Amino acid sequence: MKRIHSAKDPLMIGHLKNVMATFGIKCVTRKLDLISAAGQLPPTECWPELWVVDDDKASRARAILKKTLAPLASVKKPWMCSGCGEKIEGQFSECWNCGCDRAGVKSPGMIKLASLSHRR
Ligand SMILES: [Zn+2]
Repeated sequence: MKRIHSAKDPLMIGHLKNVMATFGIKCVTRKLDLISAAGQLPPTECWPELWVVDDDKASRARAILKKTLAPLASVKKPWMCSGCGEKIEGQFSECWNCGCDRAGVKSPGMIKLASLSHRR
């Protein structure tokens, strides 16, 4: 068994598992139920994981994974916050300045957190 991927989003892990299945690569998921433990563990420690059952298929699985994820990365273009007009980099889903998401919906509790975690 080899771990080939982990992602914050359990739906993404489920999707990737299905993709692997279409290529005849058997995978299992782990930690899908650990999301609720976030906060007590380092965040990446409790992300859902995707494991390849056959070790010798791991490199092929990684290649498929790369191709599958590539289009997703390229669509992450910068976007304009409708709340404050700030230009936001594509990898962020919320405005670091005012806490609005791409749809312009403000999440009050996230404002401080968002500005802290996005300003490095
Ligand atoms: Zn904003």
